[in-house]
Amino acid sequence: MDLKEQLVEVCHQLYQRKLVSSTGGNVSVRTERGLYITPTGYSLGEVTKEDIVEITLDGEILNGGQPSKEWRFHSSILKLRDDVHAVIHAHPAYTVAVSCRKDLNFADAMPRLTPGYIARVGKLPAVPYAPPGSEELAQNVLEVLRHHHAVLMQNHGVTVIAKDLRHAFIILEEIEENAHIYLLLGQDYHALS
Ligand code: 13P
Ligand code: ZN
Repeated sequence: MDLKEQLVEVCHQLYQRKLVSSTGGNVSVRTERGLYITPTGYSLGEVTKEDIVEITLDGEILNGGQPSKEWRFHSSILKLRDDVHAVIHAHPAYTVAVSCRKDLNFADAMPRLTPGYIARVGKLPAVPYAPPGSEELAQNVLEVLRHHHAVLMQNHGVTVIAKDLRHAFIILEEIEENAHIYLLLGQDYHALS
């Protein structure tokens, strides 16, 4: 499977696993010339190889139509960190629910409830709400991802980065699983340290 096919497969899995819905979410992967990124306004459940856009790390379109409106944080993370090759931004329901809590802890949004969450995530800082596609959102996301591999975006979603698409997907699943369990629990729970 080539890189574009891997990207499309991850998009379809995100949709099937309900980690995105409607036309939410976007995915990118590093290429020799920049990155492949999903187009703006498409359902990731229906995106095809032909729809994928290639842009440079500065946002210049090399191939295809309009890239995701979140291209700024995708490209700036890839520019900043050599170890990162894949970026997934998604809207999983339980994770989004945590991001909407009145008592959201921006330093670390969730208790560590499962060993998988500790191993793959550990800490999940959050950034305040800023409009989708805005430079402000991209800046805030980038600041956190300098030192972490996931960031929660208030009243919006989550973005994860990894060495490849498969690992990014796994991190995202751990976050959604931990969020789901967290919201099942109410106030009384035992967290891992
Ligand atoms: P795009 O369709 O432009 O990728 O936007 C979806 C999204 O999730 C915005 O945050
Ligand atoms: Zn979004």
